[in-house]
Amino acid sequence: MALIVHKYGGTSMGSVERIRNVAQRVAKWHQAGHQLVVVPSAMSGETNRLIALATQLQPQPDPRELDMIASTGEQVSVGLLAMALKAIGVEAVSYAGWQVPVRTDDAHTKARIESIDDARVRADLDAGRVVIVAGFQGVGTNGDITTLGRGGSDTSAVAIAAALKAEECLIYTDVDGVYTTDPRIVPEARRLPLITFEEMLEMASLGSKVLQIRSVEFAGKYRVKTRVLSSLTPPDMPLEVEMASGTLITFEESQAMEKAVISGIAFARDEAKITVMHVPDLPGVAYQILGPVADANIDVDMIIQNQSVDGSTDFSFTVPRADYQKALEVLNLKVRGKVKAGDIVGDPKIAKVSVVGIGMRSHVGIASRMFRTLSEEGINIQMISTSEIKISVVIEDKYLELAVRALHKAFDLEQQG
Ligand code: ASP
Ligand code: MG
Repeated sequence: MALIVHKYGGTSMGSVERIRNVAQRVAKWHQAGHQLVVVPSAMSGETNRLIALATQLQPQPDPRELDMIASTGEQVSVGLLAMALKAIGVEAVSYAGWQVPVRTDDAHTKARIESIDDARVRADLDAGRVVIVAGFQGVGTNGDITTLGRGGSDTSAVAIAAALKAEECLIYTDVDGVYTTDPRIVPEARRLPLITFEEMLEMASLGSKVLQIRSVEFAGKYRVKTRVLSSLTPPDMPLEVEMASGTLITFEESQAMEKAVISGIAFARDEAKITVMHVPDLPGVAYQILGPVADANIDVDMIIQNQSVDGSTDFSFTVPRADYQKALEVLNLKVRGKVKAGDIVGDPKIAKVSVVGIGMRSHVGIASRMFRTLSEEGINIQMISTSEIKISVVIEDKYLELAVRALHKAFDLEQQG
């Protein structure tokens, strides 16, 4: 007998019929003798619908009230799932975040989990009940309902698994695992049976949408054994088969994994590039440019500054595309005159493509293979950044799919296994 956490995404909870399927799957695990905590998302589309209602009344919704509204999607899900389980004879109980409680800070709409009380959940588990806890939500220091940011129920599930020291956290979703890249762009993309936690963290932060990045950070910090798998398989499929399916995030690096040069290709279209031209090459200039940007709460990702030739240089960086206009305004208003820079130019039509893999540590020539592949396709690289296990480039948006396909092939990702 083990304590297992299941998380079901919005698609898996998308209709009464699908909720019945989830109940059957949960019942199978429960009947095999496991203790089960289940963390569902809101039914698909529901959170969007709730936020749209809010913005009709207040274009910039009050964050506290928005959490009040957005959190109801998950509250419906937990109640429905508890009923679906009872209807097939499984004892179950549902809880909103504040009832557990899942305690968070007070940053409405992007709260962070601070602690989770396990007493109530444990008592139910010991009494033989399946416990269903609303994902995406918690309670702030003054008792107000908070939410964790879009996609936050992944983080709820992993955090609950950590708090209960669960044997495993199973993230059931509408894909059957983590792929070498998005199969919608590369049909030959392959499911990875294993991925290291560090690679998963890079993939999530570089644009792979399979798991919310904070959930991966949690899994790493508390070493939660986490598996991504499909909720669309028959709910009565044999437990042993299900337990070995999907993608397991591991903390050990096997030899086979090191042999693979890279594990996956991630990409993102949600950044924009800005260049401040003719910046004097003086101490403090980078700070004078990026300080006001940070003060405006804008995240900066890649940064490039070249060696100066005539005492000045160009300074380029990327920001989230949604903050592009705001960043330009800040730079024109607060930076340009002060640092005596030249023009400020930008381009929102860029994409970032990254190759990720722990194999990079022990293989040379990955960067040159990547750059050669892009050059053979006639794709210009605008910016480059690297870490120990990833290389990212910024290219023109319209070449994104071509770049991903070419790199997937160049690194033999369809063949390994
Ligand atoms: N329902 C929330 C959202 O759509 C949380 C989640 O699904 O993880 O973002
Ligand atoms: Mg999700």
